[in-house]
Amino acid sequence: MTTARPTPTLRRRAKAALSLLEGAYPDARTELEYRNPFELLVATVLSAQATDKSVNAATPRLFEAYPDARALALATAEQIEPHIRTIGLYRAKARNLVRLAQLLVERHAGEVPNDFEAVVALPGAGRKTANVVLSNAFGRPAIAVDTHVGRLARRLGFSSQLDPNKVERDLMILFPEERWIFLHHALILHGRRVCLARKPLCHSCVLEPHCPKVGVA
Ligand code: SF4
Repeated sequence: MTTARPTPTLRRRAKAALSLLEGAYPDARTELEYRNPFELLVATVLSAQATDKSVNAATPRLFEAYPDARALALATAEQIEPHIRTIGLYRAKARNLVRLAQLLVERHAGEVPNDFEAVVALPGAGRKTANVVLSNAFGRPAIAVDTHVGRLARRLGFSSQLDPNKVERDLMILFPEERWIFLHHALILHGRRVCLARKPLCHSCVLEPHCPKVGVA
């Protein structure tokens, strides 16, 4: 990964943006609902290419039927499907969840491991999922780059990369580690509410004075 050292100007803009995001979203956190690392992992896998709202609508009944990895590992994908039918790609996700639960039981005594490589190795869980789970469930500093975080990083001039891994690296260099988790959540909220994909609301954006609006017509 080649990333140029940030210029002092870029560092100043990043600092200003972080401060403004802290003012705008002081309580930024994930909008997925969960009670423990297992539920967060399952909800995050389900949220791929789906809205948090659709996931939150389905998971209470799913977790009532399958409260932990051991219960889920004994299910079949066909038994899971009715619980998540309203979520995109539900058939593939049902298969992944059963296998994921089986691997949690086989390799990690039914618990979600506090280990990046171990989470990435689970079916349906890539780098983004591992970062979401490790940061929210275990407080480990990480920046999960989803579509919102990537788009905002580019518009704000914090990264010119399309590859989420490279965007992640650019943001990690630019922002203090202790604010990575906050930054991830704040950028997602700002992307959902203000810096919309098709029509960003720049006129009402707190970041506007510091934003080069890269790629915005
Ligand atoms: S000024 Fe516009 S492009 Fe920049 S972050 Fe705000 S909404 Fe997005």
